[in-house]
Amino acid sequence: MCGIVGYTGPKEAYPIIIKGLKRLEYRGYDSTGVALLNHGLKVYKKKGRVADLEHEIMGKDLHANIGIGHTRWATHGEPSDKNAHPHTSASGKLAMIHNGIIENYALIKKDLVSKGYRFTSETDTEVLLNFIEDIRTKNKCDLEEATRIALKRITGAYCILLIDEDDPETIIAARKGSPLVIGVGKGEHFLGSDASPMLEYTKEVVYVNDYELAIVKPDQLILKNLGNEKITPYVTKLDMDLAAIEKGGYEHFMLKEIFEQPSTILDCLRGRLDAGKGTITMSGVDDNIQHFRDAQRIIMVACGTSWHAALLAEYLFEELCRIPVEVEYASEFRYRNPIINKGDIIIAISQSGETADTLVAIEKAKEQGAIIFGVVNVVGSSIARISDGGAYTHAGPEIGVASTKAFTGQLAVLMMMALKIGKEKGTLSEKRYTELILELDAIPEKVQALLKSAEKVKAIAEKYQHAGDALYLGRGFNFPIALEGALKLKEISYIHAEGYPAAEMKHGPIALVTEQLPVVFVATKDSYYEKIISNIQEIKARKGKVIAVITEGDEIIPTLADDVFYIPPADEVIAPMLSVIPMQLLSYYVGIAKGVDVDKPRNLAKSVTVE
Ligand code: GLU
Repeated sequence: MCGIVGYTGPKEAYPIIIKGLKRLEYRGYDSTGVALLNHGLKVYKKKGRVADLEHEIMGKDLHANIGIGHTRWATHGEPSDKNAHPHTSASGKLAMIHNGIIENYALIKKDLVSKGYRFTSETDTEVLLNFIEDIRTKNKCDLEEATRIALKRITGAYCILLIDEDDPETIIAARKGSPLVIGVGKGEHFLGSDASPMLEYTKEVVYVNDYELAIVKPDQLILKNLGNEKITPYVTKLDMDLAAIEKGGYEHFMLKEIFEQPSTILDCLRGRLDAGKGTITMSGVDDNIQHFRDAQRIIMVACGTSWHAALLAEYLFEELCRIPVEVEYASEFRYRNPIINKGDIIIAISQSGETADTLVAIEKAKEQGAIIFGVVNVVGSSIARISDGGAYTHAGPEIGVASTKAFTGQLAVLMMMALKIGKEKGTLSEKRYTELILELDAIPEKVQALLKSAEKVKAIAEKYQHAGDALYLGRGFNFPIALEGALKLKEISYIHAEGYPAAEMKHGPIALVTEQLPVVFVATKDSYYEKIISNIQEIKARKGKVIAVITEGDEIIPTLADDVFYIPPADEVIAPMLSVIPMQLLSYYVGIAKGVDVDKPRNLAKSVTVE
């Protein structure tokens, strides 16, 4: 959350920063601000989107070769002009942007107030900035040293960029818990929360690690730890192109990302699954195969949509590998003093690879001897780097705030893992393994086929757009998909929705059923098919409206349901990769019908780097 951009070099900084902020807006859109250095410090900031600020300051003096910019997801203080970043220090000389939370800010603030400091915002960021300034004044040291001292005394998470009126070439940057990428150009440097702001200028980047501080000048990048020891920056080549972060003719990123799934799933399977030879190659799994064979338990740790992928993985791993699986919300797991036995495997699932709760949860588990396996989308992200092994989902940049293609990428990875481990362990017969490999291999084509009927979902969405609530029901492998469907609808349309195991509905949610309540059933042809038909009957008997996602060829459910959407036939283990697509489309089209900004729904942001 919160997008940060910085530039120092010979080019005009402002256009680079504004363009970068637009690309990072998925990380937060409560307010926007830039600070530029050119014969003095100029700060422009405002509540609202990047385009609002851009419009407001058009025509102002924006000339500068160094600057920083921020798009905020508010944690401390409401979204407002005064709480917008960059913040300026009491002397007016320093400007700073921040992504994260300073947990002990209240104590520091109290101390600074007693020394006469006055604050113009309610943010924790302004406190850290003045704390740095106070240390610099008191210790008569330079800004770098003052920053280092301050960072050693704070608790919480941060990525900060800091500029000083008296040093008009340098950006000081540091991180702990929130991401920071530095792009290395010829006589120039770019800084960003991810690499998207620098894509057209350089492919050489340095991923800064926790507790590192960077002194960035046009032709110099010095990296140090908080003990003031130099670290050699490790330059990596970016493997991402501009087209991947543009809308490519679609009205919204979310729609583009839904429609990209045939190719993103293919990218995920490519080079790993060879249906002809009947092999699955995953180096992260191969390297740890003995651990997986011997594992007494797997703990899946995730948040949000990734948690739903984890839940489905529980069904997969227990069925195919006969390994007991526990699925944990990272935020609960990390604070619960969980029991971790040596040899337990933790699978951490996160699109961004920066999810703060998941990251801390696995750090703690690692200390206790667990083996950490990361399933992440963003290459080089923090979770990827601290994992003992892992598999990327290769879904490409996901910019819509509601996760779609990253989810199916996670499912593809987890299915391949379960198949591979099941085969290795001998818990999966050769025949079943071959069947499932072929089924998985056919998924991209089947997704392509079902997307051809997307307009049908649009019509259903328009019919139910005025619903106040919705219930999503599924059984077995489709239960996590019901949960995911409900989450998507909440996120994108603001309609209250609950996901339940279809049979569990009798124990409470059925009381909500009226003629007005749409009930979405994920009812594909599987071993629960007859049972779920009874559940549909139970809803119809109470006059609820039934929308059902069913398998092509089904002749029974269409006679019961008010609306149906067909998906191609698939084995029940693999079918969730198909049944989730109409869920994504339904929420998208309901959101559009209601006029919601589906790529940036209210109060949400992507890459949740705060607890
Ligand atoms: N804590 C800072 C604020 O509220 C930064 C928020 C964030 O990174 O999400 O302004």
